[in-house]
Amino acid sequence: MKKIEHIGIAVKNLEASIFLFEKLLNTTCYKTEEVENEKVKTAFFKQGETKIELLESLEIDGVIAKYIDKKGEGVHHIALEVESINEEMARLKNEGFVLLSEHPKKGADNKMVCFLHPKGTNGVLIELCEEIK
Ligand code: ZN
Repeated sequence: MKKIEHIGIAVKNLEASIFLFEKLLNTTCYKTEEVENEKVKTAFFKQGETKIELLESLEIDGVIAKYIDKKGEGVHHIALEVESINEEMARLKNEGFVLLSEHPKKGADNKMVCFLHPKGTNGVLIELCEEIK
């Protein structure tokens, strides 16, 4: 992997959390984006090389809504930037990790993404992401 691309945080109310994180990080949110296939609305912050992604569910039965029902708001995933998502998916599959999709999907912030099942990663949901060139 190249680096931690961002940390994803599940929130109930994106607008309120944008306000909170703008104060916390002393910077402005640079982008909000809806990701239809994940049923989420996202907001991004960048401080140096580090990004934070806030995620609010667009639907009451979306993955983020379900996550918050079960665990409450908080850190949802860690995204690792990779050179080639296809190669990394093949390598990790070969190592016995369970991928949550067969092929990379279009994610937020101009990325192709794939998630790893948290059961195989000490309970941490890992997102692989590759910048779309
Ligand atoms: Zn993410």
